[in-house]
Formats: sequence, structure tokens, C-alpha cells
Amino acid sequence: EKEKPLNFIEHIVEEDLLQGFPKSQLRFRFPPEPNGYLHIGHASSICLNFGLGIRYEAPVNLRFDDTNPIKEEQEFVDAIKEDVTWLGFTWDQECFASDYFQKLYDWAVKLIKEGKAYVDSQPSEEIAKQKGTPTEAGVNSPYRDRTVGENLELFKKMKDGDFPEGSHVLRAKIDMASPNMLLRDPVMYRILHRAHHRTNTDWCIYPLYDWTHGESDYIEQVSHSLCTLEFAPHRELYDWFLDQVVTPENIRPKQREFARRNLSHTVVSKRKLLQLVEQGFVQGWDDPRMPTISGLRRKGCTPAALRNFADTIGIAKRENVVDVALLDFHMREDLNKMAPRVMAVLDPVKLTITNYEEGKEEWLQAENNPEDPEAGFREIPFSRELFIERDDFRESANRKFFRLKLGGEVRLKNAYIIKAEEVRKDPDGNIIEILCTYDPKSKSGSGTPESLRKVKGTLHWVSSGHAIDAEVRLYDRLFSDATPDQHQGRNFTEFINPDSLKVVTGKLEPGLAGAEPGSRYQFQRLGYFCVDRESKPNHLVFNRTVTLRDTWSK
Ligand code: ATP
Ligand code: MG
Ligand code: MG
Repeated sequence: EKEKPLNFIEHIVEEDLLQGFPKSQLRFRFPPEPNGYLHIGHASSICLNFGLGIRYEAPVNLRFDDTNPIKEEQEFVDAIKEDVTWLGFTWDQECFASDYFQKLYDWAVKLIKEGKAYVDSQPSEEIAKQKGTPTEAGVNSPYRDRTVGENLELFKKMKDGDFPEGSHVLRAKIDMASPNMLLRDPVMYRILHRAHHRTNTDWCIYPLYDWTHGESDYIEQVSHSLCTLEFAPHRELYDWFLDQVVTPENIRPKQREFARRNLSHTVVSKRKLLQLVEQGFVQGWDDPRMPTISGLRRKGCTPAALRNFADTIGIAKRENVVDVALLDFHMREDLNKMAPRVMAVLDPVKLTITNYEEGKEEWLQAENNPEDPEAGFREIPFSRELFIERDDFRESANRKFFRLKLGGEVRLKNAYIIKAEEVRKDPDGNIIEILCTYDPKSKSGSGTPESLRKVKGTLHWVSSGHAIDAEVRLYDRLFSDATPDQHQGRNFTEFINPDSLKVVTGKLEPGLAGAEPGSRYQFQRLGYFCVDRESKPNHLVFNRTVTLRDTWSK
């Protein structure tokens, strides 16, 4: 395989190695906040960080950025671990920012002692007002010059639970006139009388992201801390906080930014995805229409398809929108190689072969996967009464219609050549049965001249007496607009595709009776399908992963 060109982050690492940074000290991390399920944007970040780990044989930590007890839950921690593992990656250490609460507290005390942090006792609105504007310096808090002793005492009382929420914060004392607004005495701690999913009620003050992230990287000795572009202005603060604690014998982490991945026809923000779940637009985080890793998995996407998708688009310095069709392409490519072919009829109409003996059945050979010689063959039942797709028959049609029409011939896949002779209709004029004759000498693979005769169309079918029923969920894009969250003054939920889910009862070849949840198939001529986790032996449920061809972009 061709060696992939380096991405710009890898170039940064290469440059550091050239400058003498020891390769053995490289360490990366993937730092999700456990406040929701991972989505396809996170998959890019996972592939980037773990990809670096693989390329440089360096450890990669899975770090939970769990500093906000209001939104974080164990459920999300578990789901994130499952998703990263499913994608095929193995982390070195499993870390939690909450494990560093004591260390962070001790460092905050050190900052106070050095006159670099103070307790501000103003309400947050007041603090916000004093921030100034990018062109105008802010105003110092009246509490900025509290003595070290007073600050130490107040901070301890904050920690001991002596104050209500919102009454005090700890702020770094940096520069209220800094051109970087984030350096205007940023808040480091706030009071929250909330139980945390790991530390329970041990703490009632919680550190903010900026104060936590770089110090966590430092504690873990992460060499390259990669984050998305919106954190670029935070880098200066990241460095300022590190300056306060770094000692020369340790690795000083380096923050670098890459562009967020956006995908067309969906939204990639946990907050928005949560809204879809809470407002009932989907049935949960792992609804197959969701761009979450768990939703994609449930829909039938493979880990390789998702990794190949992430690798193909790579990482960028500027934000852009990737067409969801590219993900579909990678799903088809991987599934084509591995999914067994089966026949299923999703909109059945009865077809009777009038010259086929009544009550007779025969078992025909069918190839499981022409892409995989190892996959072998199976037997499928054939009989006088079959189902085909309603859509595959017309009473009359022009020459470009290669499916079945009255007086026309087609091959039934793995079976015989048939000719449509007559139709039966109900009183409303709907076709209820197609009467055909077959050529008994035309059996596929029999080698007779009749079997080698070329007919234009090949149709899939099932034997009606043998077929089993299955609930088939036909998923389509969740949004009909390419960029649902980019419309000024309009809510992204206005662009929900009303036809994103259609449920039908399909007729399947009987060998699928024991299909296990999670297994994937190609329903010939229709698409790739995956057995849903809700599927039961007496009530099979299949999800459509992707159609065989792109039906959207024309
Ligand atoms: P969201 O806005 O969806 O909550 P987030 O960035 O707040 O995303 P985190 O759990 O903090 O979510 O993300 C973990 C890591 O994944 C971070 O390094 C973040 O930058 C990265 N990440 C999140 N979304 C994307 C995306 N769309 N493309 C690439 N990386 C992303
Ligand atoms: Mg975040
Ligand atoms: Mg977030």
C-alpha cells in the first residue's frame, strides 16, 4: 500500500523530532467530555490522535474531560469507551480530569500565594461587564487587590462549602487590558453544589476548562495536545497556565489546532444532537439516522468504513463541509467486500409460474459473495409461487425498461428465465398477481444453451411459501438541507427530512431466520442492511445501511 502523505500535524511532530525532541517522549490523548455520545466529528479526532500513536509508536490516553457535573454522566463514559474500542483503537491510560481535582486545587493555592490568583465576590454579570471589548481595556475588579491571606481563606471556604453558588469565583490575575480577551483575569473555579459522577460530593468547587486542560496534559506528560480551531485563541492562556507549574525536567505540552469536521445533511454538535433526542426527532443517541458513532454502528456502518472516511478527508487547517455521500461511498466499498448477498423483496407482488408443477419445490445454488471466493454457496428454495418487487413489473413499458413487462422476459436470479403472460387485478385496478411461464431448461449454471441465453434483466425474488417476514427500516438522510444549522435566523430542526424513516414488511429468503443482531447483508439490487439490536428470532428487524447507488446527487 502507498504510504500516506503526512498531514500538517504530523509535519509539526516531524519538525519537533528534527529539533531533538525524543521520539520516546511522544504522547497523545483524545479528550472527550462525557456529556453526550461521540459523533462522526469525534471520529476524525480519534483517528488523528490514535493514528499519530500508531505512526510514532507512542501511547495515546483516553482522557475524560469531566469538570462539569451538571452535564456529565457515567452512561456517556461507558458509551465513549465502547465507541473508541469499536473503531478499533486501544488507549494507553484511561484518565479523568476529575482525578486531578486535588492537584489542581493545590496549584491554585500556589498561584494565590504568588499573587497570581484572587477571589472575586462579584456576580458573574458584573464580571462580564468589566471585561471590556477587544478594542477597549477592561476594568479591574474591586476585589483584585485582596491580600494573599484573605484570598487563601476565602478560597478554602469556597472549597469547604461555606458559600452559595455564584457568590465567589477564583480568577487568575493576568491583565485586564490584554488584547486577548481570554487573558483578562479568566475564571479558574466556580462554586457548584452538585454531585459529580465520579467524585460525588467531595467537591463543591469545579475548575474551568482552560485551567484544567493544559494542566491535565502536563500531569499526563502529553507532548502534543491537539484540539479544534476554536481553541486557537485559548493557546495563550493554555501557555500562561503551564508557565505557572512547568518544571524544566518535565515535558511541556504543546497545543496545536486543526479544523473541525462538518458533514453535510447533518449536525455535529453534541448540544444539537441532544436536542434531537430530547425533542423526539429521533429515538435516541443510537438512532440509525444520527451521525453518532453508535448510530452509524447500529445502521450497519463498519469501523473500517468510518476510519477510511476519516483518513481520506484527513485533517485541515480551515473548516469545511464534507459531503455525506463520501461516507456512503466508504460504507459501500467495505460492505461490498464482506457482506453476504441474499434476496429480499420489500414491496412484494405475487408472481405465479403457471407451467411449474404445483406443490413442487427445488433448492437452487446461490453464490454468497462474488467478491469473496471463500464465502461459498447456499441453497435457496424455488417454487410455483414467488414474490418480486412491485416496481420490477410494468404492464407495458418502453425498450429501456429492462425489468419485467407483459410479453417480456427476465432471468430470476439464480433460477430460470420467465416470461410474463397475464396480470390479475383487484376491483380497483391494482395488480395482485402476475402470471408467467418459465423455461425449464434455462436454470442458472446448468450449462444448457437455454441457460446461456442472454436476457436483458435479472430480478431478485423469493418463494412465497418459504419466505419469512421481517420489519425493514428504510432510513434516509435526517435533514433534507445540506447545511441545516447554517441558516441565519432559522432553527436546524426546521430542515428535518419528513421521510427519513419508512418501515415496511419485507419477504426474505428463509436462510435469514437466524440472522444475529449486528450482522450485515447485501439485499441484492436494493442495498446493504444490518440486523437491528431489537431484532428477535420471531420478529426480525433490519436497518438499511446504504443503498447500492447514490440516489441523491444526480
Ligand atoms: P461538541 O461541540 O459536539 O460538544 P466538543 O468539542 O465540545 O464537541 P469534546 O467531547 O470536547 O466535544 O471533543 C473531544 C475532542 O474531539 C476534542 O479534541 C474536539 O476538539 C474534537 N472534536 C469535536 N468535534 C469535532 C469535529 N466536528 N471535528 C473534529 N474534531 C472534533
Ligand atoms: Mg469540549
Ligand atoms: Mg461541547
